[in-house]
Amino acid sequence: MFIDSHCHLDFACFSDQFDSLLTQLNQQQITKLVIPATQASGWSAIMQLANSHSALYYALGLHPHFLENFQVQNLTQLHSQLSICDKKCIALGEIGLDKFAPASFVQQEFVFVEQLKIAQQLKLPIILHCVKKQNRVLELLKQQFFTQGGVYHAFSGSLEMAHAFIKLGFKLGIGGVITYPNSTKTRETVANLPIESILLETDAPDMPLYNQSTKINTPLNILPIFNCLAELRKESKSLLAKQLYENSCSIFSLNND
Ligand SMILES: [Zn+2]
Repeated sequence: MFIDSHCHLDFACFSDQFDSLLTQLNQQQITKLVIPATQASGWSAIMQLANSHSALYYALGLHPHFLENFQVQNLTQLHSQLSICDKKCIALGEIGLDKFAPASFVQQEFVFVEQLKIAQQLKLPIILHCVKKQNRVLELLKQQFFTQGGVYHAFSGSLEMAHAFIKLGFKLGIGGVITYPNSTKTRETVANLPIESILLETDAPDMPLYNQSTKINTPLNILPIFNCLAELRKESKSLLAKQLYENSCSIFSLNND
């Protein structure tokens, strides 16, 4: 069985094919999926979606790329919503810093740090979005004494950087980037990471796989990503699949069934 630890199934591009996609995912043994939020206006739709399908879980948060409609009261709303959330809510996310996001770094850091405080208070892991800001994110996590850990989603980078996040209680989300033959550094890192520190994700509909850029990325791509990972790590597929499943369950406190 597999878990897609990061996919945006609430995006409009999936609405037409939603039911058939869920049936196919179930047939392929992809039995749990986590939908992280991007902005406050999407929270209620995500909650509704996750509560009408047993395979779906979710996180609420404010993504650094979607701050154009951000209002400071979104942070209070986030705190109150997460305080009364149902069992399907398993993290705060996705949050972080992104070098290429249009919002200023001052605003991104403010929103990120305030959300770290909420996660720490409510004892929730975070889903971290971090693009070319790894050192600053590490600094802020330490400054805030953040101890809830979480997932560094769509990890790419060196083994040393990966270990700096693992030390702070993070697991690393491994996605389509490893299918690109020219992602040499990330492929090498992923091959050498401790098996307990990695999760699978598609980030659907973003991040198409190598040679698939014309097709829409769906959580069904967990399987080709898994096959690529098993090849890179030269591990038994059944052992790897079992461990990946357990890793997702443990970081998000999901039932390991
Ligand atoms: Zn995402």
